[in-house]
Amino acid sequence: MSMFKDIPVDVGVIYEGERIRRNDMHIELGGPTVKEKFELAKVRPMNEVDDGKVTIIGPDIKDLKEGGAYPLGILVEAAGATLDQGLEGVIERRIHGYLNFIEGFMHLNQRYDIWMRLGKKSFQKGLNSFEQIGKVLYRLFKSELPIIEKVQITFITDPVKIKEMYPAALAEYEARDAKARGLKDEEVDTFYGCALCQSFAPTHVCVITPQRYSNCGAISWFDGKASASIDPKGPVFAIPRGEVINAEKGEFSGVNEMAKKRTMGEVTKVWLYTAFDHPHTSCGCFEAVTFYIPEVDGFGVVHRSFKGATVNGLPFSTIADSAAGGRQVDGFHGMSIEYMRSKKFFAADGGWNRVVWLPKEIKERVKDFIPADIVDKIATEENVQSVESLKAFLKEKNHPVVKNWKEETAATVEEAAAPAEAVSEGAVPVVTASTLPITAGGFKIILKDAKIYANKVIIKTLKDDKAEKR
Ligand code: SF4
Repeated sequence: MSMFKDIPVDVGVIYEGERIRRNDMHIELGGPTVKEKFELAKVRPMNEVDDGKVTIIGPDIKDLKEGGAYPLGILVEAAGATLDQGLEGVIERRIHGYLNFIEGFMHLNQRYDIWMRLGKKSFQKGLNSFEQIGKVLYRLFKSELPIIEKVQITFITDPVKIKEMYPAALAEYEARDAKARGLKDEEVDTFYGCALCQSFAPTHVCVITPQRYSNCGAISWFDGKASASIDPKGPVFAIPRGEVINAEKGEFSGVNEMAKKRTMGEVTKVWLYTAFDHPHTSCGCFEAVTFYIPEVDGFGVVHRSFKGATVNGLPFSTIADSAAGGRQVDGFHGMSIEYMRSKKFFAADGGWNRVVWLPKEIKERVKDFIPADIVDKIATEENVQSVESLKAFLKEKNHPVVKNWKEETAATVEEAAAPAEAVSEGAVPVVTASTLPITAGGFKIILKDAKIYANKVIIKTLKDDKAEKR
């Protein structure tokens, strides 16, 4: 029986985290095959919002052919005496949570990256109209966020209308992000945490600071602050920053304590400004993922909608799988695009001086935030298609990582020349490095604080690794 009598399927928190596979889906809305899609929340004056109104522009669910993927725009317009524009990001992110409460309905990602599926079973039970979905959203918005006094919801499936509205939605996101830039982590004593993605990744908590946007790119520090104040029992909460344990790596006692508590002791340390040792956890809905390329000692970054293989031969989906699930994986880091505009962007690892490969689209988007002396030294898919050609490109451009190669070679030579201490007979030094993650073709090898002599090297597949942990 449904929580709402006029909705043919159940609605409740137990459906959060429910995955709908391709074979079980009736239709897909947005997603990787649809270029233009969005969800947007706007705060409007009271007289401009018709409370409870649901509008559908274009074909309704029942008119969409089974098995297809369709463009979708969702516009939530809210009004309230104490509601202001600063809350738009918070309202918008709730769309994700509330839609996932619907039995047989899955919502992933955010903003211009949304990806939804309606399951066959729920469609057969009668969930066949955006009118019903709008009603659920309306009721949850009104009951969960009483600060919203009126709300109207519009679903757009007409591709011409979506095309028309899409650039304005992108401009809204950019304006919101730009407003949040400027404040520094050192200037505040409270960070914010978000546990909304724990339904998909139980050991994941986003730590949101002024200079580190949430992984999904949908919640800034200001959004976190607003959300925690209007809904203190909600998924977004304050984190007293506590003592600075390591300013360079971004380690704070308050963040560690919170992580330990919220992940049942699974994560005990989080370093906010590095991809190594104790990187921030990655959920699954991050906008982009950073991946370490050991052959050049630099980072590649790839975003969700990048098609094809990255420079190391792996597509976004494979790299994302290596990072996702609420784990801390050395050298892999799910993150927002906005984090790339921050001065703290992998600051402890060298920041932009460590980035060697980016999709052209992302490079264009963040170009103004890449230091001028490095921008042309970062390769894109247009410059190189393999690690070998990347190496040659970086050498030719004299990218800052090239200097590290020379140092490393010199260090290795020195090590090799030094007398070996307490090394078993016949062993030869394999590598010398503080942290050396190696990934290629589905294999993962992580070497830490290493001066390693080996008689035998064992390589395990990630699959084996995952199976063991289960
Ligand atoms: S990615 Fe982070 S901030 Fe965004 S919804 Fe998930 S947990 Fe919250």
